[in-house]
Amino acid sequence: MLLTDILFPRVCPVCGEVLLKDEHYLCLACEVDFPLTFFWNWSGNPAEILFWGRLKEVKASALFYYREGSDYKEIVHKFKYNGERKMGLFFAHMLGVKMRESGRFADIDYVIPVPLHFYKRWRRGFNQAEIIAEGVAQELGKPLLGGVLVRSRYTATQTKKDPEERWKNVFEAFRIRGAEKVEGKHILLVDDVLTTGATIEACGRHLEGVEGCRVSVATLGFVE
Ligand SMILES: [Zn+2]
Repeated sequence: MLLTDILFPRVCPVCGEVLLKDEHYLCLACEVDFPLTFFWNWSGNPAEILFWGRLKEVKASALFYYREGSDYKEIVHKFKYNGERKMGLFFAHMLGVKMRESGRFADIDYVIPVPLHFYKRWRRGFNQAEIIAEGVAQELGKPLLGGVLVRSRYTATQTKKDPEERWKNVFEAFRIRGAEKVEGKHILLVDDVLTTGATIEACGRHLEGVEGCRVSVATLGFVE
């Protein structure tokens, strides 16, 4: 045992128990109960259905169900708000391995994280989607592509707006720079949690606006 393990014991983010030497990020009990989605093997899965009629030919994968009241939400919470980047990267690799082994994502050309507004990125110190994209890209053996899908401005608060204005607001928060880089390419868009899909749809619609570009999706959490 390392001295640092005694002074700062590693704990399971889900149940808070101290981890044993061979346990990585999840204790054995929480690993056994990990609510995996198995979307990587499942064509027509709920994450793909979410984008039907919104994006073309989407293949989608998520690592685990992100359920209201579930302690597994802590994985994303501790990663995002407590800055536990190594833990985020660990689960990203777990997702990437499953996606690679499924073979369904072999035709991806580039992996692109959903960009965070610079102010939020500055405040948090990192973009969680970039870290997830990094782990997934490494496992898939595909390059990360930055600087093409960019944030255009801070998303204004969404209160007191009708659905059409809200959508316009989300859509206009992104733009494409250097479209030729993604012409005819299959992009894997990566974010932390898939909820309504509005952000990914907005990014995806911008990318689909480029000749021959199509989009698939990967997230750590999927909200049922
Ligand atoms: Zn645990």
